[in-house]
Amino acid sequence: GDKSVNVFVCMGASGDLAKKKIYPVLWNLYKEDLLPTETRIIGYARTKLSLEELLSRCEPFMKIKDGEKAKYAEFIKINSYVAGNYDKAADFKRLDDAIKEIGSCHRLFYLALPPSVYEPVTLNIKATCMATGDKWTRIIIEKPFGRDLDSSEHLSQHLASLFKEEQLYRIDHYLGKEMVQNLVVLRFGNRILSPIWNRDSVSSIVISFKEPIGTQGRGGYFDEFGIIRDVMQNHLLQLLTLVAMEKPPSTKAEDIRNEKVKVLKSIPPIELKDVVLGQYVGNPDGTPDQREGYLDDPTVPKDSVTPTFVTAAMFVKNERWDGVPFILRCGKALNERKAEVRIQFRDVPGDIFAEGKVKRNELVIRVQPNEAVYMKLMTKTPGMSFNCEETELDLTYHSRYSGVSMPEAYERLILDVFNGSQINFVRSDELYEAWRIFTPLLHKIEKEKIKPIPYIFGSRGPKESDEMSAKYDFKYTGEYKWAPQQKL
Ligand code: NAP
Ligand code: NAP
Repeated sequence: GDKSVNVFVCMGASGDLAKKKIYPVLWNLYKEDLLPTETRIIGYARTKLSLEELLSRCEPFMKIKDGEKAKYAEFIKINSYVAGNYDKAADFKRLDDAIKEIGSCHRLFYLALPPSVYEPVTLNIKATCMATGDKWTRIIIEKPFGRDLDSSEHLSQHLASLFKEEQLYRIDHYLGKEMVQNLVVLRFGNRILSPIWNRDSVSSIVISFKEPIGTQGRGGYFDEFGIIRDVMQNHLLQLLTLVAMEKPPSTKAEDIRNEKVKVLKSIPPIELKDVVLGQYVGNPDGTPDQREGYLDDPTVPKDSVTPTFVTAAMFVKNERWDGVPFILRCGKALNERKAEVRIQFRDVPGDIFAEGKVKRNELVIRVQPNEAVYMKLMTKTPGMSFNCEETELDLTYHSRYSGVSMPEAYERLILDVFNGSQINFVRSDELYEAWRIFTPLLHKIEKEKIKPIPYIFGSRGPKESDEMSAKYDFKYTGEYKWAPQQKL
């Protein structure tokens, strides 16, 4: 393979993302010998730090075990740190010198920075720090990619003026998750699923993201964005596109990304009438955390109407999906942590069983926690009776694949960047379509200061959300009972 040295530059190395995610992930990849053999890591930020100080901030998140001390000592040796400003060419020249000292290298710049400095940083990288000759330069950026269509287009055009699309890696970490990647295999590798994956058989699709925690005193950042920008416009929409897209001609990155853009183009902007907005309030009978409502967070403006919960019905106006509601739900301060895709199938036509006995089939793909795929289906009640009852075919990953460790989303994604694979990164035209769908709604909510419905911390969200799902043909009977499997 390629014996060149790879240099990973972490811009904003002193920050939160670097400390909690990027350095721990690099360490994990290093200790499992998954990083390309010749890799060097350079941290860059304004704060004056020694390498030792930098790494000691990250160590609490690295989980270095006793037997790994020697390996960690080697890891330290591939690291270095350069202090510099984000808008000073001379500082980037010093960074470039530090890279050149290592040799002629491939260069990967991870922008773990607030978006306010993306422009100067990318201008300086382009002017001063690009790889030369046959060596590549790749740029990783993190959300938020703007806050509406205009600001996102502004950023995209800025980036396009400096880099080619194949140099840009926009992270949506949901695309690094095992079950999200599995959607493509489940859909296109199973003859029993592909013929029913359409409006003839599917009644509705519910895509959910639920969090049991509130903003915990850090609502200031969140309040500027809200749950639609934070979760729905990116993570949930990515799940939707993978569920709804047509079969790509191959599993190559551009083939998949082309299909994702096509399906987004078939989605009209969301209308306010198809949306339920919520904001959590404290639960006086709850745990100390649950007693604090969103507006009790001292970093949140007292009159904030920022939603912390939203349910939205979306439609894909193409031949496969016309009329099938895609119900996207996400929220903070709910009753549980979970992300899943739930495909509910139509009623059995010409039902011959006692009325109401036969329930709709559901296929559930649980992304987190405890990855699983299960299909709710009807069976004869075991024994003498001839009743029907609802049961499930169940693929629970930790029992079927016990001992297989699932790599963390960021681990896969960072390796993808080293390998030049853009399958799991967001292309600029995809981003454009995502903002086109959400921007009119976001502007309307903000302009008209639409009041969210209060819901209690620890609940399932406002009841209006269930009413919206029911209106859009999601049937809930409340009769399904799950009995965790016994050991055979
Ligand atoms: P951060 O800690 O606020 O900032 C990273 C570093 O940037 C800081 O250590 C600071 O370094 C520098 N910086 C901060 N504010 C600045 C300013 N106003 N002007 C110039 N430099 C400034 O940010 P982060 O939480 O690591 O997030 C980095 C990026 O990842 C952001 O785009 C964020 O939205 C995204 N993201 C973060 C997370 C997360 O878990 N934290 C998750 C998903 C996405 P120096 O002062 O040393 O230069
Ligand atoms: P369920 O309890 O019948 O819930 C189905 C859906 O209906 C969920 O989306 C639920 O929302 C929603 N719902 C709940 N109460 C409602 C209400 N009052 N009105 C309208 N909608 C309502 O079935 P399930 O969630 O598929 O399974 C039940 C439990 O069994 C879950 O905890 C599941 O994880 C577990 N299970 C695990 C496995 C496995 O690990 N392999 C397999 C099968 C089942 P919410 O999402 O807000 O709850």
